[in-house]
Amino acid sequence: MQTITKIVTNIFIFCLILLSGCSNFINNSKEVKNNMLKNKKFIFTFLSAPGAGKGTLAQQAASKLNFIVLSTGDLFRQHIANNTTIGQELKKYMDKGELVPDDLVISMVKEWLLSVKDTDRQIILDGFPRTDVQAQKLITLIKNNLPEHNFRVVKLEISKGEITNRLVNRRVCPNKSCQAVYNTSMPEIAAGKCLKCSSVLIQRNDDKPEVISQRFDVYYKNEDELIKAYQDSGINIEILSVSQKTPDQIFEEFKAIL
Ligand code: AMP
Repeated sequence: MQTITKIVTNIFIFCLILLSGCSNFINNSKEVKNNMLKNKKFIFTFLSAPGAGKGTLAQQAASKLNFIVLSTGDLFRQHIANNTTIGQELKKYMDKGELVPDDLVISMVKEWLLSVKDTDRQIILDGFPRTDVQAQKLITLIKNNLPEHNFRVVKLEISKGEITNRLVNRRVCPNKSCQAVYNTSMPEIAAGKCLKCSSVLIQRNDDKPEVISQRFDVYYKNEDELIKAYQDSGINIEILSVSQKTPDQIFEEFKAIL
């Protein structure tokens, strides 16, 4: 009987040691992962059709992970709202759902990237690059001016039908310091007012059905060339399926690939 008690006690102690070893191992792995994120600087871009949720994902990464984000669309809309000379030029293209000429976009993104090149924070470029020319310029810019940064391309996969539905029903807050985004299916916005600042919600000009179809044409026309530009430069395209997922689920999956 005594021998059995001894054996059981020994097995118990052995299990305890094993458990504590596993927990140390898990903690160490977490630490390694965190360190990896700390020591490596990334510039992410999301490859996705308009409305796939790249803006929302970028905003979550900014507020919850302290990433810095440049959204070219938001930057351009700010110029338009402030009626700057550049804004007047940008509006001509954006209202029709066309792309802004490469030279103009590249010079604005370059200026922004150089202004943050010494940051230790991770960077997201939301809505850039959108053409093969922009992709090639960006890759060269990173190589020459931000050599500590690793460029990562994440493709948000979703069907055209699902995003058309989202875009047509998207409503945004026009207040520049708010810019909250909603969907008409949300009962909370039945009164048409922003839940954060009470501004009257609007539909973006380029979310109107005729402009959406033009934006899709432009996106899918450029997507193949963009993918080819990445492949030619040896850049891996990481896939994140965003179909039928909430923004929080998408964010969790994004964190998992960091
Ligand atoms: P977004 O908010 O990202 O959907 O962008 C809105 C609009 O801004 C697009 O339909 C384009 O007219 C313009 N735009 C934004 N980013 C770019 C870019 N990288 N290249 C050309 N045009 C852009």
